[in-house]
Amino acid sequence: MKPLSLRTQLTLFYSLAVVTILAGFVLLSYHSLAVLLERSTDEELSERAAALRGYLAFRNGQLLLAFNPDDPGEAYFIHNATRYYQAFDLSDGSMEVQSRDLELLGVHPSPEEVSILGRQPGITDVTTAEGTIRFHDSVFATQGNLFLIRVGVSMRPVHAALGQFTRALLVLVPVGVLLAALGGWQMARNALRPIRDVAAAARRLDIERLNERMPMRGTGDELDQLAESFNHTLARLEDAVGQMKQFTASVSHELRTPLTAMRGEAEVALLEAKSVEDYRRVLASQLEEIERLTRIVNQLLTLARAEAGEIRMGDSPVDLSALVASLAEQMEPVADSRQVELRAEPGVGVTVRGDASWLERVVLNLLDNAVKFTLPGGQVRLTVAVENGQAVLRVSDTGIGIPAEALPHIFDRFYRVEPSRSKNIEGVGLGLALVKWIVDRHHGRIEVESRPGQGSCFAVWLPPVQPLLSESRSRTPSAQPR
Ligand code: ADP
Repeated sequence: MKPLSLRTQLTLFYSLAVVTILAGFVLLSYHSLAVLLERSTDEELSERAAALRGYLAFRNGQLLLAFNPDDPGEAYFIHNATRYYQAFDLSDGSMEVQSRDLELLGVHPSPEEVSILGRQPGITDVTTAEGTIRFHDSVFATQGNLFLIRVGVSMRPVHAALGQFTRALLVLVPVGVLLAALGGWQMARNALRPIRDVAAAARRLDIERLNERMPMRGTGDELDQLAESFNHTLARLEDAVGQMKQFTASVSHELRTPLTAMRGEAEVALLEAKSVEDYRRVLASQLEEIERLTRIVNQLLTLARAEAGEIRMGDSPVDLSALVASLAEQMEPVADSRQVELRAEPGVGVTVRGDASWLERVVLNLLDNAVKFTLPGGQVRLTVAVENGQAVLRVSDTGIGIPAEALPHIFDRFYRVEPSRSKNIEGVGLGLALVKWIVDRHHGRIEVESRPGQGSCFAVWLPPVQPLLSESRSRTPSAQPR
């Protein structure tokens, strides 16, 4: 079965609440009215019975009502009070006297019943053809005789009043419930309108219109919070899509440049090359471009696989000091060839948890950049230390530095600071993106400080394999690669 719509559910819930409250109210008021009417009937009956006893007299062996028929007040009272009236001799249960109405209705208790009523006088209801008659029974003693006096009153007016009340309720309650349901339906509609607005705004969105935002009403309520969360998500999405577009444009550009160069070279060679030597030179140059393209594609593939979560990181203790010492040694010839001095202070036994080959890439990429962007005669320093319980690897150089406005972007893919300043320097701006990804996967962080013309310092903070005991362990004499 299809689940009920939110609006229907709200309406049903509201109507049910109204019905419950109304039912409680109706039952309570009916009960109160019935109790009130019966109580006033009983009081009237008791008063009537008490007054009537004042007129009772026993003369000549007979029970009589002695009153002055010329007094209209007395006569009216006696007439009224004796409409339902009976008197029984309690010695044998025989009837002494009864009113004509009771005689016609055939209300005649047996001597046994009379004797029971005489023992426990009070209020009793008797059902007759004319409806219920409520009797007030009392014992009247005179001159050694005991009589049971019954004075009754019809309960018809009480029942008629209650019936009329019930009929009124039977009309009013359904009307009330109907009105409540209609009101609830309308209220639910009003309450859900902001949600419909948000849904309509969400339907209008598509990849080309990610800059649109959900309407906010400024109430700060749950719906505003929903719209706000949605807007945050949209902003992130817009950002991500923007980055993807930028990335695609950058990839196309990076791949097209070497391809155009290769094509140009090939065309010129076809037209102009005369000797095998000419062709050899062109092919060698093309090979360089192909190598560059292969490097770009490999880096892209690694990043793509990394982002797709396809790459598994090792998670074992890695001796960062030993790793750095060995890489510094490996890089020394490259630094030498550029006349850059490479100094390494790798400490001893600073160990982190992670993947040795990926950490190796971090060190190599940072070192490679430092050497690349340092002019001949400059210096590159590589240190491993323990600070605040964390292992920190620093690669600092006295190179060309990075302008402040470029710093927030250097970890973006394909970002290169003013490509013109590094025209002759290899690299497509993917190295630091990869470094950042690796550091993130090691639950570490990377920071950079740089001053144009003075140099840069990249610091990689990594959680140690276990709390590092003393910070002095890393302060070992500087180890220079041979
Ligand atoms: P690339 O592969 O082009 O070196 P990276 O992602 O490694 O790309 O670096 C991005 C940019 O950051 C580089 O183009 C360069 O301009 C700048 N950069 C990185 N390291 C240094 C450094 N040590 N000194 C100066 N600039 C640097």
